[in-house]
Amino acid sequence: MEVVVNSPNVKYTSNYIESNYDYHTTKVGKKENKLIATPHVEHLQIRTGRKVPKLGVMLVGWGGNNGSTFTAAILANKLGLSWPTKKGIQHANWFGSITQSSTVRLGGDSDGKDVYVPISNLLPMVNPDDIEVDGWDISKLNIADACKRAQVLEPFLQDQLRSLLVDYKPRPSIYNPDFIAANQSDRADNVIKGTKKQQVEQIMKDIEDFKTKSGVDQVIVLWTANTERFADIIPGTNDTAANLEAAIANDHPEISPSTLFAWASVKSNCTYINGSPQNTFVPGVIELAEELGVFIAGDDFKSGQTKLKSVLVDFLVSAGIKPVSIVSYNHLGNNDGKNLSAPQQFRSKEISKSNVVDDMVESNRILYEPGEKPDHCVVIKYVPYVADSKRAMDEYISEIMMGGHNTLVVHNTCEDSLLATPLILDLVVLAELCSRIQFKKRGEAVFCTFHPVLSILSYLCKAPLVPNNTPVINALCKQRECIENVLRACIGLSPDSNMLLEHKVP
Ligand code: NAD
Repeated sequence: MEVVVNSPNVKYTSNYIESNYDYHTTKVGKKENKLIATPHVEHLQIRTGRKVPKLGVMLVGWGGNNGSTFTAAILANKLGLSWPTKKGIQHANWFGSITQSSTVRLGGDSDGKDVYVPISNLLPMVNPDDIEVDGWDISKLNIADACKRAQVLEPFLQDQLRSLLVDYKPRPSIYNPDFIAANQSDRADNVIKGTKKQQVEQIMKDIEDFKTKSGVDQVIVLWTANTERFADIIPGTNDTAANLEAAIANDHPEISPSTLFAWASVKSNCTYINGSPQNTFVPGVIELAEELGVFIAGDDFKSGQTKLKSVLVDFLVSAGIKPVSIVSYNHLGNNDGKNLSAPQQFRSKEISKSNVVDDMVESNRILYEPGEKPDHCVVIKYVPYVADSKRAMDEYISEIMMGGHNTLVVHNTCEDSLLATPLILDLVVLAELCSRIQFKKRGEAVFCTFHPVLSILSYLCKAPLVPNNTPVINALCKQRECIENVLRACIGLSPDSNMLLEHKVP
């Protein structure tokens, strides 16, 4: 059911939902040995465009497990497909997507009962059924055969989609064996030749071509290709937009394929999202996005082990318990695991997974001294037999009262790509929505958009990219509340405080 807000602060025009919103924060200062907390209110006008564009999503790594599963899932849901399994009939769904399968508490009804609505009912959002998918892969396998190679979806579903997916053929991509594992070379039969400048020009042409042929209004480019090694940040090469442009023109060897994609995408005015851990967003790309006002977001989908870690450590630290050792072991057997079995690509993943508890640890000076952190070790092993069914084993040791210890051991078995695919959907649906939201402070003349570094998508990312000098939030609850409360603000509703005073105070 559509949500309509009944408030003098909210206006529905034919183009916008307009909200006059009082944003309450607390400013903290220091005076002598006291912290002075002062409530602060910013009066904002927020408007959200009501016209949802036709969205095109271009995936880099389209023929991989995630890319092929995403494409099949869009079609399976759109066509309302079902297929037999040994447990009975399974229907297509989007479980694991916050926009499609999670709800928010809108408020209470006259009987005092909570009323929940799907998040997607709060504001006009792209319907996944209407998304057009295209993309690139260094492997030329069509998406039907890519699904077969991925071994993620049930054969009865694959059979139903085969005649459609067989026509989805990845565009040739930028391959640089220096950046992904050597064990991927046998896949690389679909590559763009030429200099880096010519490769960027080809990607920009591909985006234009997709737009024209599919008739979409807006394109989002998302990297779900193999994890690359980190690129060196070299002064004079990729540290500013101008230097990066020159480095691309000079075919500099340290510019990664993913950075070339990000550059081409931002230049084409398309949001670029990085679902892998590598440092695609070198300072030159960030500067370009800021100059052109184009969204970028990343890094690395937060799908399984890290997602749970960002819940568990938050729970422990906020309960006043001190995690002192976190050891995370994984084994997986899909192509991602094969690529990550090479040391430099593993290192990218290790870095991405390593900072995920920092904000929680730093929030509690009772438990941790400045600079103190729990021991944190991450191991990833490639075991082909388990294929996409990834195993993650974690041990959390915490100090509890009076020198006691609490050890939690978690075993997590999950089909990796079936956790990541709904995140791809949320990333593109929310990124598109963000492009229709504008803000204006009272007294200012013009509306502005979100900062080009779209940190509101942190919930979906293992190593959230945030604008310079702004806090990185990893705690999952805070990340979700951020999304929920921003959407509520757009329709003039205050954050859900969970105080439920109406039930506690007579
Ligand atoms: P995959 O190996 O199945 O797919 C990657 C695809 O990228 C392959 O088809 C490969 O041919 C292609 N590729 C490699 N380099 C390319 C390039 N330069 N241009 C175009 N295509 C290229 O991997 P996957 O399981 O789909 O995962 C994709 C990425 O998502 C990996 O980097 C992985 O680390 C990241 N990731 C996945 C998960 C998850 O699945 N749960 C979670 C977090 C991050």
